[in-house]
Amino acid sequence: MPLYHTDDQTMLRDTARSFIADAAPVKHLRQLRDTHDRTGFSRDLWKQFAEMGFTGILVPETQGGLGLGHVEASIVLEEIGRNLTPSPFLTTAVTAVEALKTSATLGAEWLPKIASGNAIVALAIEESAKHRPDRIALTAERSGNGFKLTGTKNFVINGHVADMLIVAARTAGAVGEPDGITLFAVPKDAAGLSANPVLLADSSLASHVRLDGVQVDADAVLGDVDGGWGPLTKLLDAGRVGAAAEMLGVGGAALDATVDYLKTRKQFGRLIGEFQALQHRAAHLYGEMQVARATVLKAAQLLDAEYPRAEIAVAVAKAKTGRACALAVQEGVQMHGGIGMTDEYDIGLYMKRDRALEEFFGDARFHADRVARLNGY
Ligand SMILES: Cc1cc2nc3c(=O)[nH]c(=O)nc-3n(C[C@H](O)[C@H](O)[C@H](O)COP(=O)(O)OP(=O)(O)OC[C@H]3O[C@@H](n4cnc5c(N)ncnc54)[C@H](O)[C@@H]3O)c2cc1C
Repeated sequence: MPLYHTDDQTMLRDTARSFIADAAPVKHLRQLRDTHDRTGFSRDLWKQFAEMGFTGILVPETQGGLGLGHVEASIVLEEIGRNLTPSPFLTTAVTAVEALKTSATLGAEWLPKIASGNAIVALAIEESAKHRPDRIALTAERSGNGFKLTGTKNFVINGHVADMLIVAARTAGAVGEPDGITLFAVPKDAAGLSANPVLLADSSLASHVRLDGVQVDADAVLGDVDGGWGPLTKLLDAGRVGAAAEMLGVGGAALDATVDYLKTRKQFGRLIGEFQALQHRAAHLYGEMQVARATVLKAAQLLDAEYPRAEIAVAVAKAKTGRACALAVQEGVQMHGGIGMTDEYDIGLYMKRDRALEEFFGDARFHADRVARLNGY
């Protein structure tokens, strides 16, 4: 597989690039933030995403989608990142779709609704401050013909407005073990479910979710009882590549803004970009972002090809992109001098979004460790 986009993928990129830059540039985020919007994104924009076909990129054609792959989803996510567009795309149209493909009944019910822009699905997985998907303590006890879920979840993006939550619960085993985890589809109006939204550093909303003895039927299970680790890893890997692709947009936009600044800001009678010390830093950053770009495309291609060891490439992509994007936003703020610190200037917003995406689905250290473990160290 060559490491460049096909003609169709390039067309999708051009379409997504102009549409998102036009419909939801950075001022769209500022407007949601400054009006204290409590949804966290624009439902009108989400409908437009559906009309463009974006929400159905990973949904099979038989269920109203486009039946495309992670490379195409990554293309849209990069443009979302470039414009800092608040959107449920990553959680709903990428990770939830991957999870729902594991159940014929739940997939038949929810995938067409996602493709048409009529459903938001959130992920209730994390319980602690850092991404540790094996550390699931929320319990699901057998009850009636189904299960009763009890516990709390954190960092549930779109949790307070989702029509359904995919909840990782422990049906067996001990906290820290991959075995004994089960995934459940829990509708938003289930008795005993509450979601309390809080603002994250990047001005997005994520919920603390409580489940107080939430009763679900046996057919709410995604995958197998006690065997949720497989579908959980699959949905997380889709999210990891997606988050890395969004970071390419974040870091890429920070790089572009910085290079533009070096070419326009004059000091001591010269453009600051004429100073070799800054040129070296800009060239180093450009190189790091190009390597990150290659790792994301490779990982997405391997996921689409269902390559058995794709998870290693996914971990490499999330780790490498995390480091490159952090460098991009840090160099951006440094090279813009004092104005990089101000809210009026966008570069600081890129830094905040980078921090959130870095933590989302595992930071660079988590994934560097994962690469080592998957290679037998
Ligand atoms: C919100 C805010 C808070 C601030 N707080 C403080 C504070 O607490 N204390 C304080 O002292 N100041 C403070 N400042 C001022 C700020 O530190 C300076 O504006 C900052 O040092 C930028 O310097 P500059 O104007 O030279 O940047 P610019 O001239 O815009 O420089 C941009 C970039 O080019 C680099 N550069 C510039 N000239 C050269 C050169 N000849 N060779 C190589 N590289 C070069 C700079 O290092 C920088 O990375 C603050 C400013 C703001 C907006």
